Amino acid sequence: MRVMEILIYPDIFGKHITAFFTGKSPGADPEKIAGAVSVDKLNIYMPVQKHTDKVLVLDSDLSPKIADAVITNNRGILIGIQVADCVPVLLYDAKRNVIGVVHAGWRGTAASILKKSIEAMHERFASSPDDIKIAIGPSIRWCCYHVGYDVLESVEKATGIGEYHINRGGAYCLDLASANKYQAIPAGVPKENIWVSDECTYCHPDKFYSYRFAKGTTGRQGGFIGMLHR
Ligand SMILES: [Zn+2]
Repeated sequence: MRVMEILIYPDIFGKHITAFFTGKSPGADPEKIAGAVSVDKLNIYMPVQKHTDKVLVLDSDLSPKIADAVITNNRGILIGIQVADCVPVLLYDAKRNVIGVVHAGWRGTAASILKKSIEAMHERFASSPDDIKIAIGPSIRWCCYHVGYDVLESVEKATGIGEYHINRGGAYCLDLASANKYQAIPAGVPKENIWVSDECTYCHPDKFYSYRFAKGTTGRQGGFIGMLHR
């Protein structure tokens, strides 16, 4: 079966920036991504993801480093993260020319990785959260993400109250995409600056990799952002 090429462009950043989420193809393969958006493969940076809360501030050193978020003001570099159910998040401050990517699974969300990324953009590049725009890509949604109380509780501790979970027939249905939105708002990002994909990776196994649908080993799609053109 031929896999459809999918690049999803969030309708929030404007046209001065290259920002997109992928489906199964081109997935998170740097070679294919490079071809899809005309960037040199060597100028694509993806961290070594470990479900941490580590935010890497990327300078000119593009050597592999462990992190689950990357922020930078480097031009000409496409930064990305890979996911298969977890939430891919892109950030952009057009005023200070700063970009970011975040991998937010439940562990990262419980560790406030998006909030820490927003704070890092402020501390390192003087970004005002008011100026930051955020796109939250396709992930497993509440229709399909049933978790134990321990997971819900740890996400709730980091996120506070919000409309991101429901209790259905004794199961806890968690929506990490919405949880991340509820984390960004108290960090100062205006609600209208946040775009959320309405797609669920588990509901569309033809289009997206889903770790839970595959019951384990599967490929990865991604989220990518770069200031590639002046
Ligand atoms: Zn679903």
